[in-house]
Amino acid sequence: MPSRHHDGGKWCRPATRLAIYLRDDFRCVWCLTPLAHLHPRNVTLDHAVPRERGGSNAPNNLLTACKTCNSARGTQPMTHYARTCDDPLGTLRRVRAAVRRAPNLSLARAILAGQEPDPRPVVRRARRAGRLLAPKGSAVDLIARGLLRPVRTGHGTRDDAVPF
Ligand SMILES: [Zn+2]
Repeated sequence: MPSRHHDGGKWCRPATRLAIYLRDDFRCVWCLTPLAHLHPRNVTLDHAVPRERGGSNAPNNLLTACKTCNSARGTQPMTHYARTCDDPLGTLRRVRAAVRRAPNLSLARAILAGQEPDPRPVVRRARRAGRLLAPKGSAVDLIARGLLRPVRTGHGTRDDAVPF
């Protein structure tokens, strides 16, 4: 039966997704693994407050997470999952700070449009993380080339683990 859990990555627009990834420096907010060079299936959006607990798909409820952490967390509240991480308090502080930062949607749109980035530090940072240095097949590379292809994770139980 079709449901929002099976709609691939379409629940979040590519520009929003990229903006969240950029906001979080393309690292998993939980384990800090760098993700920009990975295949998109391993880069996911996690919900700060899980959908099952009433959390929304708004950017201020979205976090960059590796697939491993996202799957391991499941529907646990942030406070519970943070306890399983190294430095639980630091992790929780970092995650809460991440969702308070506004994602730069205009920057994400400019990158997706292939426009020449301006020289501001935030853009230089994006370029370092972004398509110009991104290996072929990486998340950034695929976003930048407009080759987003929603894929299914197989377990189909949660939408917050669905990559694009
Ligand atoms: Zn992780």
